[in-house]
Amino acid sequence: MFQTCATAARLVLDAVLPPLCLGCSEIVEAPGALCATCWQRFAFVAPPYCERCAYPFAQDLGQGALCGACMARPPRYRRARAALVYDAQSRRLVLPFKHGDRTDIARACGAWMARAGAELLAEADVVAPVPLHWRRLFTRRYNQAQLLARIVVRRMLPPSRARLAPDLLRRRRWTGSQTGRRAKERRDNVRRAFEINPRWAAEVASKTVLLIDDVLTTGATVEACALALQQGGARHVDVLTLARVVRPTI
Ligand SMILES: [Zn+2]
Ligand SMILES: [Zn+2]
Repeated sequence: MFQTCATAARLVLDAVLPPLCLGCSEIVEAPGALCATCWQRFAFVAPPYCERCAYPFAQDLGQGALCGACMARPPRYRRARAALVYDAQSRRLVLPFKHGDRTDIARACGAWMARAGAELLAEADVVAPVPLHWRRLFTRRYNQAQLLARIVVRRMLPPSRARLAPDLLRRRRWTGSQTGRRAKERRDNVRRAFEINPRWAAEVASKTVLLIDDVLTTGATVEACALALQQGGARHVDVLTLARVVRPTI
């Protein structure tokens, strides 16, 4: 009830107050926009990049070029794309959205993701968010990946045949936080943590699944999801995230 009132109050305020920049709260022309200064400060992920994981390259290495990490250990997913580089600037967008009730940020971010992942969306049969464990869902109240998946599917241009499957994957067990764990530890921690919800099993076999998450860090979580989907017969698994960590050297 309180939440409904708060949402209604926010809608009323949104209608009477001027729209504010999502990055710095300056007044902008339209809701969900960035001011010119913030627009320049945000690092959007753009080619040239690794064909597999979209790790940005300083120079164009030609079509199909892979980064060192993907060559050394090919990821389970086919391709991963992200809208933003995860840095001090984009953290200011991601954190309030992740831990607060800022669904207005999700709307803008979903639109950027739909653009960054246009190629992936065009080929997807099913779009599914990385699930939260119910314990975390309880404290956060909503799954930010699910919210993004909904917006991305709505924002697809041209509209694609992909179907949103909000509960396609389930967490089998509580894996705790991935923060502070090294890549190998993250992989071990989440291995076999996910399973396909039986009611979606027929939607996975021989299909191309697009996984949605907020931030791609080491990729351990989405790879664990990809493993579950591949065991369920998925033909391809692609990944689209709002932001991705870009380490200076890999
Ligand atoms: Zn701004
Ligand atoms: Zn790569």
